[in-house]
Amino acid sequence: MNLQFFGVDTPRYTNGQPARELELRRIILHEFGHALGMMHEHQSPGAECDKEINWDAAYQMGVRLGWDKEMVHAQMRQLANLEEFNMTAVDRKSIMHYSLAPELFKLGRNSKCWVPDNNDLSEQDRRFIASVYPRDGAPVATSSGPSTSRPPAAATRGAKPVAVINDKETLVKQYEELLKQAGLAADRIAQLTQEFRKNVFGQ
Ligand SMILES: [Zn+2]
Repeated sequence: MNLQFFGVDTPRYTNGQPARELELRRIILHEFGHALGMMHEHQSPGAECDKEINWDAAYQMGVRLGWDKEMVHAQMRQLANLEEFNMTAVDRKSIMHYSLAPELFKLGRNSKCWVPDNNDLSEQDRRFIASVYPRDGAPVATSSGPSTSRPPAAATRGAKPVAVINDKETLVKQYEELLKQAGLAADRIAQLTQEFRKNVFGQ
């Protein structure tokens, strides 16, 4: 992952103000979550956010961000409940849960899918990553392990190649969007996105 944006020079918004450290921290942790194979928590099959979302408002937000409907769906729609996703219980405090604007929900802040900014890894984020990337010698948790009586739970953290490969293009697009939201200049965004793309696709 390219961290040059957050490197030696103080990152700034286009209005010249230094970017907020908390925001940068949130973005870095979230993007690292993707790099480690995690998917969006608000898109968990167990999150049940599809019917909470005001889709007209979501499409309008998409227009402002330069997203077509397909991209809006890729970022917000509930994912199929696939075993490869290694789902966990829905974790509203996950770093992978978007804090979407209340206007995007029919119930506003009263929607179960609206959460304030999660700026740090949740306890469950830490446990999940530790289970998928254990220390040397420890057993690796995978969805193809011995079956248990545990029912398929909620949340959305994929760590399987199938899902990750299909999501690479989305990941690059999203990285670009986050840089835009952080207020970087267009040519800088293009440069960083290009580097990120190379890292993601391993070219
Ligand atoms: Zn994301």
